[in-house]
Amino acid sequence: MPNFIILVVEDEDAIREMLVVVLEQAGFTVQAVPNAEDAQRFLNDTLPDLILLDWMLPNLNGVEWARRLRKEPIYQELPIILLTARGEEEDKIRGFGCGIDDYMTKPFSPRELVARLRAVLRRSSKHQWSPQIIVGDLTLDTEQHRLMISDKVVEVSPTEFRLMQFFMTHPDKVFNRTQLLDQVWGRSVYIEERTVDVHIRRLRKILEAYGREELVQTVRGFGYRFSVTQ
Ligand code: CA
Repeated sequence: MPNFIILVVEDEDAIREMLVVVLEQAGFTVQAVPNAEDAQRFLNDTLPDLILLDWMLPNLNGVEWARRLRKEPIYQELPIILLTARGEEEDKIRGFGCGIDDYMTKPFSPRELVARLRAVLRRSSKHQWSPQIIVGDLTLDTEQHRLMISDKVVEVSPTEFRLMQFFMTHPDKVFNRTQLLDQVWGRSVYIEERTVDVHIRRLRKILEAYGREELVQTVRGFGYRFSVTQ
């Protein structure tokens, strides 16, 4: 299974700690915070694969925070599972529409939680997280963390691997440096845009060895495109 990052936002210590144990045992990388403000700070540096979000939080509640997140393009498709206490109205939760991908009523069994979480991850990521992404004669195996061109294994760094993963799941679209930074590196404020250029150059060099440097195209004045149709 690819290494999914789950952000847990839960103010009750005992539940938060239980969630961390359960999710880590299930093989997820987990970051847990007690409120929406800390969660927002986490998002500034890292884009998780899913947020497990308690509804009733101090200050800003989970539903309100989720609504704000959905207004930003980068978070529109980020899966969110809402945790609710018994007694909170289910019809209200259903009314959230596309804001929430699923919800679970406390108390729930760890097994059910993990199953629902995997289901949401599968639904939300038809292409990006399937174990193999195949584009032409390129195969990216996200389980074995391996890139192959015509069945030859290509050596790439973790960053170039993520860059390839993003490109191969978003072919023929133009992305500017900021978008690539957000999608491939997460929203770190410490990384400069020219870092993208450095990694693109390295990636091209690698592809060049296989005669495939034309896959990564520069779109002057805007950014880059992974072009599979030429
Ligand atoms: Ca709570």
